Amino acid sequence: MQWNSPEHPKMTLTQGQTRPVNRIFCIAKNYEAHAREMGGEVDRAQPFHFQKSFDALSFGPAVRYPSHTEDLHHEVELVVVLGQGGRDVTPREAKDLVFGYACGIDFTRRDRQAEAKAEGRPWEMAKNFDDAAVLGMVAPVDEVGHLEAGTIQLSVNGAIRQQGDLNQMVYDVFELIAYVSRVQMLKPGDLIFTGTPSGVGAVERGDELRCQIEGLPELSVQMV
Ligand code: MN
Repeated sequence: MQWNSPEHPKMTLTQGQTRPVNRIFCIAKNYEAHAREMGGEVDRAQPFHFQKSFDALSFGPAVRYPSHTEDLHHEVELVVVLGQGGRDVTPREAKDLVFGYACGIDFTRRDRQAEAKAEGRPWEMAKNFDDAAVLGMVAPVDEVGHLEAGTIQLSVNGAIRQQGDLNQMVYDVFELIAYVSRVQMLKPGDLIFTGTPSGVGAVERGDELRCQIEGLPELSVQMV
Protein backbone atom coordinates (compact mmCIF):
# COMPACT_ATOMS: atom_id res chain seq x y z
CA MET A 1 0.00 0.00 0.00
CA GLN A 2 1.23 3.48 -0.75
CA TRP A 3 0.20 6.83 0.54
CA ASN A 4 1.60 10.31 0.78
CA SER A 5 2.36 11.11 4.35
CA PRO A 6 1.32 14.63 5.26
CA GLU A 7 4.09 17.16 5.75
CA HIS A 8 4.44 18.69 9.14
CA PRO A 9 3.97 22.47 8.84
CA LYS A 10 7.01 24.63 9.50
CA MET A 11 6.93 27.45 12.01
CA THR A 12 8.97 30.58 11.33
CA LEU A 13 11.39 31.99 13.88
CA THR A 14 12.00 35.72 14.38
CA GLN A 15 15.40 35.36 12.73
CA GLY A 16 13.89 33.77 9.63
CA GLN A 17 14.76 30.08 10.11
CA THR A 18 12.03 27.45 10.12
CA ARG A 19 11.37 24.38 12.29
CA PRO A 20 8.81 21.59 11.90
CA VAL A 21 5.79 21.59 14.18
CA ASN A 22 5.19 18.27 15.87
CA ARG A 23 1.99 18.05 17.94
CA ILE A 24 -0.47 20.66 19.23
CA PHE A 25 -1.59 20.41 22.84
CA CYS A 26 -4.16 22.92 24.10
CA ILE A 27 -4.94 23.71 27.71
CA ALA A 28 -8.54 24.56 28.62
CA LYS A 29 -9.73 26.85 31.43
CA ASN A 30 -6.40 28.27 32.56
CA TYR A 31 -7.67 31.80 33.31
CA GLU A 32 -10.27 32.12 36.04
CA ALA A 33 -12.27 34.88 34.28
CA HIS A 34 -12.56 32.78 31.11
CA ALA A 35 -13.61 29.66 33.04
CA ARG A 36 -16.34 31.77 34.66
CA GLU A 37 -17.55 33.32 31.38
CA MET A 38 -17.96 29.75 30.06
CA GLY A 39 -20.08 28.92 33.10
CA GLY A 40 -17.44 26.69 34.67
CA GLU A 41 -14.74 26.62 37.29
CA VAL A 42 -10.99 26.12 37.12
CA ASP A 43 -9.95 22.64 38.21
CA ARG A 44 -7.40 23.24 40.96
CA ALA A 45 -6.47 19.54 41.12
CA GLN A 46 -4.97 19.40 37.64
CA PRO A 47 -5.16 21.09 34.21
CA PHE A 48 -7.43 19.84 31.43
CA HIS A 49 -6.24 19.53 27.83
CA PHE A 50 -7.11 18.37 24.31
CA GLN A 51 -5.15 18.08 21.06
CA LYS A 52 -5.49 19.52 17.56
CA SER A 53 -3.98 17.80 14.51
CA PHE A 54 -0.74 19.34 13.27
CA ASP A 55 -2.34 19.89 9.87
CA ALA A 56 -5.05 22.04 11.49
CA LEU A 57 -2.35 24.69 11.90
CA SER A 58 -2.33 27.96 9.94
CA PHE A 59 0.20 30.77 10.01
CA GLY A 60 -2.23 33.29 8.52
CA PRO A 61 -2.74 35.89 7.36
CA ALA A 62 -5.82 34.27 5.75
CA VAL A 63 -7.86 31.99 8.01
CA ARG A 64 -10.69 29.99 6.44
CA TYR A 65 -14.04 30.15 8.25
CA PRO A 66 -14.93 26.48 8.82
CA SER A 67 -18.05 24.48 7.98
CA HIS A 68 -20.36 23.08 10.70
CA THR A 69 -20.61 26.25 12.78
CA GLU A 70 -22.46 29.52 13.03
CA ASP A 71 -20.55 30.59 16.12
CA LEU A 72 -16.79 30.50 15.52
CA HIS A 73 -14.95 32.01 18.51
CA HIS A 74 -11.47 33.49 18.86
CA GLU A 75 -9.25 32.53 21.81
CA VAL A 76 -5.90 34.37 21.96
CA GLU A 77 -3.24 32.30 23.71
CA LEU A 78 0.43 32.26 24.62
CA VAL A 79 2.00 29.32 22.79
CA VAL A 80 5.02 27.50 24.20
CA VAL A 81 7.30 25.85 21.64
CA LEU A 82 9.35 22.90 22.89
CA GLY A 83 12.94 22.46 21.75
CA GLN A 84 13.43 19.23 23.68
CA GLY A 85 11.19 16.38 24.73
CA GLY A 86 10.77 14.66 28.06
CA ARG A 87 8.62 12.40 30.20
CA ASP A 88 7.51 13.02 33.79
CA VAL A 89 9.50 16.23 34.08
CA THR A 90 9.19 18.53 37.08
CA PRO A 91 8.24 22.18 36.57
CA ARG A 92 11.86 23.08 37.30
CA GLU A 93 13.12 20.68 34.59
CA ALA A 94 10.39 21.89 32.22
CA LYS A 95 12.09 25.25 31.87
CA ASP A 96 14.95 23.65 29.92
CA LEU A 97 12.55 22.11 27.37
CA VAL A 98 11.26 25.49 26.16
CA PHE A 99 12.63 26.67 22.83
CA GLY A 100 10.52 29.80 22.52
CA TYR A 101 7.17 31.52 22.60
CA ALA A 102 4.60 32.82 20.12
CA CYS A 103 1.13 34.38 19.91
CA GLY A 104 -1.56 31.94 18.87
CA ILE A 105 -5.29 31.63 18.33
CA ASP A 106 -7.32 28.58 19.36
CA PHE A 107 -10.41 28.84 17.12
CA THR A 108 -13.46 27.08 18.49
CA ARG A 109 -16.83 26.06 17.06
CA ARG A 110 -18.62 27.27 20.21
CA ASP A 111 -21.99 25.88 19.15
CA ARG A 112 -20.52 22.41 18.67
CA GLN A 113 -18.64 22.68 21.98
CA ALA A 114 -21.85 23.56 23.85
CA GLU A 115 -23.52 20.46 22.36
CA ALA A 116 -20.54 18.28 23.22
CA LYS A 117 -20.61 19.49 26.81
CA ALA A 118 -24.39 18.96 27.09
CA GLU A 119 -24.22 15.47 25.60
CA GLY A 120 -21.03 14.35 27.31
CA ARG A 121 -19.22 13.96 23.99
CA PRO A 122 -15.56 14.71 23.13
CA TRP A 123 -14.61 18.23 21.97
CA GLU A 124 -13.19 17.01 18.63
CA MET A 125 -15.83 18.70 16.42
CA ALA A 126 -15.47 21.94 18.36
CA LYS A 127 -11.71 22.18 18.29
CA ASN A 128 -10.18 20.31 15.34
CA PHE A 129 -10.70 21.55 11.76
CA ASP A 130 -8.72 23.27 9.01
CA ASP A 131 -7.07 26.47 10.32
CA ALA A 132 -8.33 25.74 13.85
CA ALA A 133 -4.99 26.78 15.35
CA VAL A 134 -3.01 29.82 14.24
CA LEU A 135 0.62 30.38 15.16
CA GLY A 136 2.57 33.63 14.92
CA MET A 137 6.30 34.06 14.53
CA VAL A 138 8.26 32.17 17.21
CA ALA A 139 10.64 34.15 19.42
CA PRO A 140 13.42 32.00 20.94
CA VAL A 141 14.00 32.15 24.70
CA ASP A 142 17.56 33.35 23.96
CA GLU A 143 15.96 36.48 22.55
CA VAL A 144 12.95 37.18 24.76
CA GLY A 145 13.53 35.17 27.94
CA HIS A 146 10.67 33.37 29.70
CA LEU A 147 7.29 35.10 29.65
CA GLU A 148 5.63 34.94 33.05
CA ALA A 149 3.81 38.29 33.05
CA GLY A 150 2.67 40.85 30.51
CA THR A 151 -0.44 41.94 28.64
CA ILE A 152 -2.18 39.48 26.32
CA GLN A 153 -4.92 40.89 24.10
CA LEU A 154 -6.92 40.41 20.93
CA SER A 155 -8.79 43.00 18.91
CA VAL A 156 -11.34 42.52 16.14
CA ASN A 157 -11.51 45.29 13.52
CA GLY A 158 -9.65 47.60 15.91
CA ALA A 159 -11.86 47.03 18.97
CA ILE A 160 -10.30 45.21 21.93
CA ARG A 161 -12.26 42.05 22.74
CA GLN A 162 -9.91 40.07 24.98
CA GLN A 163 -7.44 41.49 27.46
CA GLY A 164 -5.60 39.86 30.33
CA ASP A 165 -2.17 39.30 31.81
CA LEU A 166 -0.01 36.20 31.54
CA ASN A 167 0.33 36.32 35.34
CA GLN A 168 -3.39 35.39 35.57
CA MET A 169 -2.70 31.86 34.33
CA VAL A 170 -3.83 29.36 36.95
CA TYR A 171 -1.09 26.89 35.97
CA ASP A 172 2.10 28.53 34.70
CA VAL A 173 3.99 27.44 31.60
CA PHE A 174 6.31 25.09 33.50
CA GLU A 175 3.50 23.43 35.46
CA LEU A 176 1.66 22.88 32.15
CA ILE A 177 4.68 21.27 30.49
CA ALA A 178 5.17 19.03 33.54
CA TYR A 179 1.48 18.07 33.44
CA VAL A 180 1.44 17.14 29.73
CA SER A 181 4.72 15.21 30.15
CA ARG A 182 2.98 12.97 32.67
CA VAL A 183 0.17 12.22 30.19
CA GLN A 184 2.33 11.66 27.08
CA MET A 185 6.03 11.80 26.30
CA LEU A 186 6.80 15.26 24.95
CA LYS A 187 8.89 15.71 21.81
CA PRO A 188 10.82 18.54 20.14
CA GLY A 189 8.52 20.71 18.02
CA ASP A 190 5.48 20.13 20.25
CA LEU A 191 3.36 23.23 20.87
CA ILE A 192 1.35 23.92 23.99
CA PHE A 193 -1.45 26.51 23.74
CA THR A 194 -1.71 27.72 27.33
CA GLY A 195 -5.35 28.86 27.58
CA THR A 196 -7.21 32.08 26.90
CA PRO A 197 -8.19 35.12 28.99
CA SER A 198 -11.83 36.25 29.12
CA GLY A 199 -13.63 38.09 26.32
CA VAL A 200 -13.94 35.29 23.77
CA GLY A 201 -16.52 35.95 21.06
CA ALA A 202 -17.69 35.29 17.55
CA VAL A 203 -15.94 36.30 14.33
CA GLU A 204 -17.30 36.70 10.80
CA ARG A 205 -15.77 36.43 7.36
CA GLY A 206 -13.86 39.64 6.58
CA ASP A 207 -12.96 40.37 10.22
CA GLU A 208 -9.39 41.47 10.96
CA LEU A 209 -7.95 40.00 14.15
CA ARG A 210 -4.87 41.36 15.85
CA CYS A 211 -3.18 39.46 18.70
CA GLN A 212 -0.61 41.07 20.95
CA ILE A 213 1.43 39.60 23.79
CA GLU A 214 3.97 41.85 25.48
CA GLY A 215 7.46 40.94 24.27
CA LEU A 216 6.37 38.87 21.25
CA PRO A 217 5.82 39.60 17.55
CA GLU A 218 2.18 40.49 16.79
CA LEU A 219 -0.09 38.09 14.93
CA SER A 220 -2.65 39.52 12.48
CA VAL A 221 -5.15 37.42 10.57
CA GLN A 222 -8.15 37.95 8.32
CA MET A 223 -11.17 35.64 8.26
CA VAL A 224 -12.00 34.51 4.70
MN1 MN B 1 -8.29 27.65 24.22
